[in-house]
Amino acid sequence: MKKITIAIDGFSSTGKSTLAKQLAQKLQYVYVDSGAMYRAVALYALEHKLIDDNVLNTEKLIASLPYINVAFQYNNSLKASELYLNEVNVNTEIRSMIVSNAVSIVASVPEVRKQLVALQQQMGAKKGIVMDGRDIGTVVFPDAELKLFMTASAHTRAQRRYEELVSGGTTVSFDAVLENITSRDHLDSTREDSPLFKAKDAIEIDNSSLSLEDQFEKVLALVNSKLAIA
Ligand code: C5P
Repeated sequence: MKKITIAIDGFSSTGKSTLAKQLAQKLQYVYVDSGAMYRAVALYALEHKLIDDNVLNTEKLIASLPYINVAFQYNNSLKASELYLNEVNVNTEIRSMIVSNAVSIVASVPEVRKQLVALQQQMGAKKGIVMDGRDIGTVVFPDAELKLFMTASAHTRAQRRYEELVSGGTTVSFDAVLENITSRDHLDSTREDSPLFKAKDAIEIDNSSLSLEDQFEKVLALVNSKLAIA
């Protein structure tokens, strides 16, 4: 059976990774969370005090790039890949609000993007991959057979992320989550290098009032139609 590349882009907390994981499992494809890679670089910058009061020392971060190794490793018992920064499992730390508040600044640095995009393209060289992010259909895999662009109202997205964080034991206010989401959307859509936008050939999915099951069925039908002509 021919394999295709599936690129899922969209605003923060639109359920990209949930959909990507469902698809990867169903199709037996590799799933790559490209946002986790940017989060790992942001974590490195924070740990090395390269961010002070929301101001990034861009020069030092660029000089550090050769020493930042980001890799996924499959965890058999979790049946999922986990992110390693310089051989250390940072899968939990990269989800913290501190990292969420720093990541879009780090992701706007072209040198950071160049390094991570090269890795992402290597991971997808053989197709059979579902990758989610902000520039997957526009920059990383412009020839992807299926491109999805996910949206939902900011309030719906913040509510989902808030519930996810609280159920994972994080103490956070709804307003802080909403503020983080809207400010990341703004930074991600207005940056100069690889801004978030819907590729011409991407299919938009607004899931504000779509159940997970309905969304999956809808997307699976799209995948099957692409596989039929691949
Ligand atoms: O997907 P997630 O919300 O974890 O991504 C975190 C951040 O990483 C985004 O807000 C964005 O700044 C950056 N990102 C990016 N390009 C990607 C994936 C994520 O700039 N392909």
